[in-house]
Amino acid sequence: MTLTCYYCGWQSYESLAYLNFQVDHLIPPSRGGPDVPWNRASACRWCNLQKGDKTELEYRTWRMLNPSEATYGPYRGAFQYGPLAI
Ligand SMILES: [Zn+2]
Repeated sequence: MTLTCYYCGWQSYESLAYLNFQVDHLIPPSRGGPDVPWNRASACRWCNLQKGDKTELEYRTWRMLNPSEATYGPYRGAFQYGPLAI
């Protein structure tokens, strides 16, 4: 059983998910996003770190405009032109 990052497509075994995955809020709580199921997504911690308080659309746009900076994680660069399309 694996978990998949909503943003970069990186997968991790569920047994390691506590290390690599975080619950992201599509609309950040700091900008009024509620903590309800439709506003939650599983994101790898590298994507979540970069997303910060951006909304989903802002973050995906930022990644497309800054492909060389996208993803801090072990697969940095691997997804630059991959599953980032909206
Ligand atoms: Zn990710």
